Amino acid sequence: MSKELSGGCCCGQVTFTLQDNFRMFFFCHCEQCRKLTGSAHASNLFTAPDNIRWLQGENSTTRYEHPTRDFASVFCSHCGSGLPYLTKSGQFLIVPAGSLNEEPGKLPDARIFCAEQTEWHKQGLKAPAMDGFPQ
Ligand SMILES: [Zn+2]
Ligand SMILES: [Zn+2]
Repeated sequence: MSKELSGGCCCGQVTFTLQDNFRMFFFCHCEQCRKLTGSAHASNLFTAPDNIRWLQGENSTTRYEHPTRDFASVFCSHCGSGLPYLTKSGQFLIVPAGSLNEEPGKLPDARIFCAEQTEWHKQGLKAPAMDGFPQ
């Protein structure tokens, strides 16, 4: 039996639980993931399509599908936070790792589409690490 994890959006309108049972975990540096997340890369966990129980707010989510490419995303209609979504094929449920409240048992398998990784991210990984804003 895997343990249960909880997650949700930043404003708290959308919450869910799922089983800590993931097949793959990728950091994706492709341009589309960069735009969709507004960040250096997507952090996507892959699980079975039916591994999710929406506790509240499922009808406060919006799904976006790229018109020609195989990209989709689901986000909170109120705060914009990324949330779990079914791939267009319906084969996987993609869970943005940052939407979880706890640490998943699975560690990242690979960083993918690194040819599209930004220079600011490569250099930023070498920047000083601080616990909060610089004093
Ligand atoms: Zn929200
Ligand atoms: Zn990507």
